[in-house]
Amino acid sequence: MAQPWRGVIAEYRDWLPLGEETPTVTLGEGGTPLIHSAWLSEIVRGEVFVKVEGDNPTGSFKDRGMTVAISAAKGEGAEAVVCASTGNTSASMTAYAARAGLTPIVLVPHGKISAGKMAQAVMHGGEIIQVRGGFDECLNISRGLAKDYPVALVNSVNPMRLEGQKTGAFEIVDVLGRAPDLHVLPVGNAGNISAYWMGYRQYADAGIASTRPAMWGFQAAGAAPIVRGEIVREPETLATAIRIGNPASWQLAENARDESGGRIDAVTDDQILDAQRRLGAEEGIFVEPGSAAGIAGLLAAAEAGEVPSGQVIAVTVTGHGLKDIDTPLSRIDSIVDEVIEPTVEAAAEVAGLR
Ligand SMILES: *Cc1c(COP(=O)(O)O)cnc(C)c1O
Repeated sequence: MAQPWRGVIAEYRDWLPLGEETPTVTLGEGGTPLIHSAWLSEIVRGEVFVKVEGDNPTGSFKDRGMTVAISAAKGEGAEAVVCASTGNTSASMTAYAARAGLTPIVLVPHGKISAGKMAQAVMHGGEIIQVRGGFDECLNISRGLAKDYPVALVNSVNPMRLEGQKTGAFEIVDVLGRAPDLHVLPVGNAGNISAYWMGYRQYADAGIASTRPAMWGFQAAGAAPIVRGEIVREPETLATAIRIGNPASWQLAENARDESGGRIDAVTDDQILDAQRRLGAEEGIFVEPGSAAGIAGLLAAAEAGEVPSGQVIAVTVTGHGLKDIDTPLSRIDSIVDEVIEPTVEAAAEVAGLR
């Protein structure tokens, strides 16, 4: 009988800096689908695979890092954990804290979190504190709490988060049997691009992959500090998951870009929402707006003739579309196309069947 997926710690324990005594707090995260996209492959004249991280237990890649960070915190005897969040970190942290029996404290920008993500933190029993400020201020407060009070910080400045998130790169190489030539993903706080690069590097150093991909990251145009080379004081984008003006892993992300021969660029909200809609309609993959930044960036680069043909390309789509339904629906005039009398004939006529 096939062995079911056991979660990223059990699957990749040898690659993670966890002691033997450390307990495993898991919800079976990781092992997400790597879906070949005929649509994108044709556009770039290569082979494009989409890593669907919305299929994780709380609907985003954050679970990969959280299983490791919460397990380590639990092993060290922590009783409470804290994070700043644009929504998905808090959804993930509260779920893993609930499993570990830890008290989760969440700091979020007031009024800037999608209802779906907020509902997750509420249902997992989070102590939710709304801050009059942005993500960057929330992170500063979280750091302060962890410094002065008995709570463990589990934002991606906690190295355990990136350790867990690097398993996304391992899975891609394990499934493809090689590293992709190019890896594309959204960039917010810049932890994930740094984590993937660490994963690809480690597999190459160990001889499991013979090459490493170029890392291409995409920020939202209104929240693109790395592209602009300066902190953005008031970041603005509909893609709330990447609405960050001063990324914690800024330097690591620049290292990933430079060491891999990659790039970090910006895409507009219109490009993001267009990519989100097209991915849903062409491939049946529904992602949240921030998750579509990588797809948007790849499409823009292809249009500009900047994607060499014949490449194997992996694109991480970071979170599930159901987390934020208001943003895409706000762009659609009416979700109901037609209202008819309850007859087969009327339905057939409206559907254009004959
Ligand atoms: C956290 C998050 C991002 C940004 O990842 P970083 O590691 O902060 O760069 C992108 N998309 C989604 C859905 C996220 O939850």
